[in-house]
Amino acid sequence: MSGRLAGKVALVTGAASGIGRATALAFAEEGAKVVVSARSLDGGQETVRLIRGSSGEATFVRADVSIASEVAALVRAAVDTYGSLDCAHNNAGVSGAGFLPHEYPEDLWDRNIAVNLTGVWRCLKYEVIQMLRQGSGVIVNTSSIGGLAGAPMSIGYAASKHGVIGLTKSAALAYAQNGIRVNAVCPGYVRTPMLEAIMAERPGYEAAVTATEPIGRLGSPEEVAGLVVWLCTDAASFITGAAMPVDGGFTAR
Ligand code: NAP
Repeated sequence: MSGRLAGKVALVTGAASGIGRATALAFAEEGAKVVVSARSLDGGQETVRLIRGSSGEATFVRADVSIASEVAALVRAAVDTYGSLDCAHNNAGVSGAGFLPHEYPEDLWDRNIAVNLTGVWRCLKYEVIQMLRQGSGVIVNTSSIGGLAGAPMSIGYAASKHGVIGLTKSAALAYAQNGIRVNAVCPGYVRTPMLEAIMAERPGYEAAVTATEPIGRLGSPEEVAGLVVWLCTDAASFITGAAMPVDGGFTAR
């Protein structure tokens, strides 16, 4: 297959829906072989079916990023299946919204940190081990506008996403001379199952968040995927340690 990532191997976590599915499809369109990962078999296999339906190459590997042994096995499976690991989008995440900081549920805090922050670090850890062997690789972590600005009703989510930027910059510095680039994307409000679920629970939420977007609308998963894939191409060869907004102007205020 031709494309900017022809012959490359890309791994996407949280690829059962939303932004991760869009990135998996976009990687495949650019010619990469894609390892699609999530916990849900149905969603993951649907992403694989969509890629194969467009003549792309993909395989599903089930993994919960909050479990170390499953992440280690995921990276091993990617390399066993396709022979290398060139691009990784550490994107799996869970939301957390609707509580003042002193009322934020303990279990929601723990879940935000375990999946959104520790999960990203854990994926990066095993990916880097492989990329150091190869002497090359690109990692893109999904942060959020909640990683760039405070979110008074989502303290656990915001803390996890600020943490993603800290670990992204730290890893970028650690491996800058090993041929490994590490960046983060910071989406604004994007229409995905995660956001749809919050909007369904709360009347008026869609209008309220749309009003915070200077561009006047929600983003699409494909608009985030385009940035992720671009960061993995040679066009972005001098970019590492960046936390790039893709947010309709939200953080420009
Ligand atoms: P989504 O459609 O709900 O996607 C989340 C993905 O993460 C799903 O594929 C889910 O699949 C997977 N996942 C959740 N927990 C997991 C775990 N423990 N292990 C492995 N996979 C897990 O929502 P989305 O909006 O596309 O979210 C993708 C990322 O973008 C998240 O990190 C989110 O925080 C971030 N983000 C979203 C927005 C937005 O407005 N939508 C804005 C900024 C940032 P399974 O449940 O099958 O595992």
